[in-house]
Amino acid sequence: MGERQRAAQDYIVAGDGGWQLAGSRCGACQAVFLGARRVCAACGARGRMLPEVLRDRGRVHSFTTVHRSFPGVPVPFVMAVVDLDGGPALRGTLRDAAAAELRFDLPVRVVFGDSGQRDASGAAWIAFSFVPDREAMS
Ligand SMILES: [Zn+2]
Repeated sequence: MGERQRAAQDYIVAGDGGWQLAGSRCGACQAVFLGARRVCAACGARGRMLPEVLRDRGRVHSFTTVHRSFPGVPVPFVMAVVDLDGGPALRGTLRDAAAAELRFDLPVRVVFGDSGQRDASGAAWIAFSFVPDREAMS
């Protein structure tokens, strides 16, 4: 057994194939959201939200390069808003992308890894980020 790990967000959950993004879908209007919801923010329906595992593929909707951040956070890094396949849009760090390949509509994958932070017991916080989906670029 490796190092103990903890999800850094409650919508990061352990599934059969590893870490996943948990979402919910409205049974009334089919809108998809990140994490668990009781009320649909799109149509206002109550009690119609169903849990759904979000897809781990998407495309860059927008991005920006961050040059200044909190002390201890290495810069520069790229923050992106990604339209996940099937929804929703999600903000996160885009890693391993060369400046020349950064573009809108860039295919990306969701990956999970050690955030570098530890909780009080020493367990690693697991966070998600995006990486270019080079198989989908061709
Ligand atoms: Zn709805």
